[in-house]
Amino acid sequence: MKIFNTLTRRKEEFVPLEEGKVRMYVCGPTVYNLIHIGNARPMIVFDTFRRYLEYKGYEVNYVSNFTDVDDKIINKALEEGVDASEISSRYIAECKKDMEGMNVLPATVHPLATQEIGGMIEMISALMEKGYAYAAADGTVYFRTGKFASYGKLSHKNLEDLQAGHRDIKVAGELKEDPFDFVLWKPKKEGEPAWESPWGQGRPGWHIECSVMSKKYLGETIDIHAGGEDLIFPHHENEIAQSEAASGKEFAHYWMHNGFLNINHQKMSKSLGNFFTVRDIAEKYDLQVLRFFMLSAHYRSPLNFGEDLMEAAKSGLERIRTAAEQLHRLLQASAQEEMTEHEEAVYAQSAQFQQKFEAAMEDDCNTADAVSAVFELVKFINMNVSAEHSRDYLNRLYDRLDCLCGILGIQIMPEQEMLDAEIEELIAERQKARKDKDFARADQIREELAQKGILLKDTREGVTWKRA
Ligand code: AMP
Ligand code: ZN
Repeated sequence: MKIFNTLTRRKEEFVPLEEGKVRMYVCGPTVYNLIHIGNARPMIVFDTFRRYLEYKGYEVNYVSNFTDVDDKIINKALEEGVDASEISSRYIAECKKDMEGMNVLPATVHPLATQEIGGMIEMISALMEKGYAYAAADGTVYFRTGKFASYGKLSHKNLEDLQAGHRDIKVAGELKEDPFDFVLWKPKKEGEPAWESPWGQGRPGWHIECSVMSKKYLGETIDIHAGGEDLIFPHHENEIAQSEAASGKEFAHYWMHNGFLNINHQKMSKSLGNFFTVRDIAEKYDLQVLRFFMLSAHYRSPLNFGEDLMEAAKSGLERIRTAAEQLHRLLQASAQEEMTEHEEAVYAQSAQFQQKFEAAMEDDCNTADAVSAVFELVKFINMNVSAEHSRDYLNRLYDRLDCLCGILGIQIMPEQEMLDAEIEELIAERQKARKDKDFARADQIREELAQKGILLKDTREGVTWKRA
């Protein structure tokens, strides 16, 4: 399998550190608001890549953080007059709902920056000891970029050129040795969350959190580090500098970066009014359509979001689902069990689409071509199924389609609706729980039903319910 590695700017054969295992870290969102459709792109593409790795039999340790301490979170908390932790926990919960809607699997671990402060202090201390970091007079701790010889290797920038272009940059009040030195620890400001440290009360800079969480959950050297291309510089460059200066080892073997999602060929921005949250899209579309839309392009290409492309994704997805439903109907009605010889031969032919799919995914996760292979399989299925076929044959074709769509994270059959009887049973159990004053269980049942789209209403006459 080949991966385009930003570090070497080449497609390289993927060789994991440990056979059969993949250690992968994906930078997650800063949680101060609902996630936007740009944030959804790395979630969807790297989730798909993970699913493919798992399909190939790898055990994937997939770590993706939530940045839960940051200026934007603090500002939002001040605006609302609540604690920063209230803002971050609210938007982590909302983000998880969106991830579920887009069928993005939960990571093996979703670490939170605020829970890893001890590790950050340790790494910063190690950097200080080795001369890679220094504390300025105001208590800010900086990374000394000039001492890290390969600074710039990921973004292919040269520190001297950077410095030459920025000789005049001197931000008032900053006490850095060099304009490209970056913050590891910042001193406390009134009203901000702060932690004790050897450099006084304060909070970590953004970059250090990923270095520390990656090390803690995956080890000093990992296989793949990923995120959006805007993170290449400075975020990922700085992560490399911190981690490699501290450990003396290579930080990540492969660096994968997704291209940007634009709207009408412009950068998404609130001020231009071309900004959509995932929740906005969910009002109009099944989020599986958003997922399918994202996967119809190569992850490294820029992708333009627009109504026409979403409509195209919607009808593409419908085409696949119609074939799946037809297959399902036929196989439920099929009389004969075993495959005939002729069916075996036709089924064997359908393997070519799975091979095409795999070849596309092996080539730097080319989901655009993988989607084309799925469409070819759909066409093949439509031409080769009828009521005369055996259950085994229909089943196998269904499984092949389901397997490929599953790697893309696309569900081909709508979730089975809950039966009325099941709902009534749970409602009765909830009534009993309430009678027994087990309110936790009663709430749990209400929540469980709500997640399945069943809304309860307590009236004087008893409980009524409806589907949302
Ligand atoms: P942030 O919360 O800004 O740190 O972003 C979280 C993730 O979303 C990072 O991997 C970003 O690179 C990615 N991202 C943000 N905006 C976009 C966009 N418009 N298109 C693609 N990826 C994006
Ligand atoms: Zn990061």
